[in-house]
Amino acid sequence: MVKFKNCDYCSQSSQIRYRIQYDSSNQWQLVCPTCQTHLSQDNPYYRYGGTWKGSRKA
Ligand SMILES: [Zn+2]
Repeated sequence: MVKFKNCDYCSQSSQIRYRIQYDSSNQWQLVCPTCQTHLSQDNPYYRYGGTWKGSRKA
């Protein structure tokens, strides 16, 4: 069973998510690539903290 997790922003399940901050709360959020692109634009709070990938362990 492959683990898909939901984007913290749009709630769509995504196998790849980016760990980012996008507001003044300094909370790390895991978002899908679509939201990462959207949230990074013209955003002084945007910070990138790495990529999360759903692992497929045998
Ligand atoms: Zn999303």
